[in-house]
Amino acid sequence: MIFDLHSHSTASDGVLAPAVLVARAAERGVGTLALTDHDTLQGLAEAQAEARAVGIRLIPGVEISVTWEGRTVHVLGLNIDPDNPALAAGLAGLRAGRVERAQRMADSLAAVGIGGAFAGSAIYATNSDMIGRTHFARFLVNSGHVGSVPAVFKRFLVPGKPGYVKHEWASLTEAVGWITGAGGEAVLAHPGRYDMGRERMNQLLGAFRDLGGSGIEVVAGSHTTGHVPVFADYAAAFGLKASIGSDFHAPGEGGRELGRLQALPTRCVPIWKDW
Ligand code: AMP
Ligand code: MN
Ligand code: MN
Ligand code: MN
Repeated sequence: MIFDLHSHSTASDGVLAPAVLVARAAERGVGTLALTDHDTLQGLAEAQAEARAVGIRLIPGVEISVTWEGRTVHVLGLNIDPDNPALAAGLAGLRAGRVERAQRMADSLAAVGIGGAFAGSAIYATNSDMIGRTHFARFLVNSGHVGSVPAVFKRFLVPGKPGYVKHEWASLTEAVGWITGAGGEAVLAHPGRYDMGRERMNQLLGAFRDLGGSGIEVVAGSHTTGHVPVFADYAAAFGLKASIGSDFHAPGEGGRELGRLQALPTRCVPIWKDW
């Protein structure tokens, strides 16, 4: 059984509609797919219907943006109840913050002579309140300012560059609380991307576990083969289960494909052990 427990649709910053994403996963042999859009549950109903139609299992998920100790980290919620009111309200608050942040990002770009970025980026956001840096990156590419999306994230939208603004997301306590309160399991996404030393990572994982976090992505689309044993060791040290996800956003982007992932090290306890 191929598991892919991290993916994005047009409900956030992916380019495939939820049903198209699910069909693509099924074509690639994925038996269990989690749709984990950023800060929204909007795509889950469509994805669930298509999963039934093509005969694969769809895990309702979300990827929550969190500010922990001044840094942005992402927490996946897997097997959440999409109808849980507190989760929905928390995510709605995050999306309201995204709109305000996008205005500040556009102001920052205007200051270097790039006008119209708010309206220009909003065109790429299917849901007007689920707007983020990927939509700005598409605007910067398609308006001819930068050659490619990866190049955007070198010249713009990252700390110290035009279009980057500081932003306060959910707290770790809120995010894990919303997920577990909705019956889901909280999984720390792509820890290899956080550029933290061992001491900081130990603090983060200790806090996360004490709040009720259950898992950590060991195999992730943005992880190198070297990250896998490192985070398998962290999982064992903190008694966390291990997850696996491509973080797929678009065909041909970043060399990532649905379901095309290395296996979890056998010493890991998979997050799906009791599903
Ligand atoms: P946001 O949540 O609005 O800050 O946007 C974060 C999203 O931007 C991530 O989920 C990725 O989809 C995208 N992103 C961030 N860094 C990069 C990068 N270096 N290259 C391509 N996409 C990136
Ligand atoms: Mn994204
Ligand atoms: Mn992420
Ligand atoms: Mn993601």
